[in-house]
Amino acid sequence: MTIGINIGHGDPFSPGLPPDPGAVSATGVQEHAYNTRLLHRLEPLLSVPWRRIQAPYTQLPALANAAGVDVLISLHCNSSSNPTANGTEVLHARGSVAGRALAMLLARSISASMRTRLRHDPETGSVPVEPTGRGGLLLFKTEMPTVIVEPFFISNPAELKHFTDNQGDYAQALATVLNTLQL
Ligand SMILES: [Zn+2]
Repeated sequence: MTIGINIGHGDPFSPGLPPDPGAVSATGVQEHAYNTRLLHRLEPLLSVPWRRIQAPYTQLPALANAAGVDVLISLHCNSSSNPTANGTEVLHARGSVAGRALAMLLARSISASMRTRLRHDPETGSVPVEPTGRGGLLLFKTEMPTVIVEPFFISNPAELKHFTDNQGDYAQALATVLNTLQL
């Protein structure tokens, strides 16, 4: 079993465009930069085989499919024009049983250790996405169960501070789930 890990954004959205930093906080913290630091913390905690999957968004599914990973985790931060928007959600392809199960495990683990509320579905924090919906291209064109992790809102100063001050706890919440995956 090999886990594919993608850090959201960083590359151009499509080849030929400028690099995409992802969402940016009021203080200038970039989503891609946040998750790059997160992966540095996550790496030493992982006891399962994994590999980085990184490409322009429109090319990600083909790269993941060719890499032969058994599951794909794409790390993001949520963002809203409402600075008080908050909470954890994990997106999966509607109809994917394994995707939903993984989304649920990750959302609950993050919510429990970071004390965030679960968005969308307050029981599971999982969000089923349609092919044309947010992240639909990645979620539906990959051949393995894929999830998009939105642990907190980078646009919410209190959540950004909490997830920055306690980034190691967030990494541990991810590792706890990933290390026990058996697909
Ligand atoms: Zn993102």
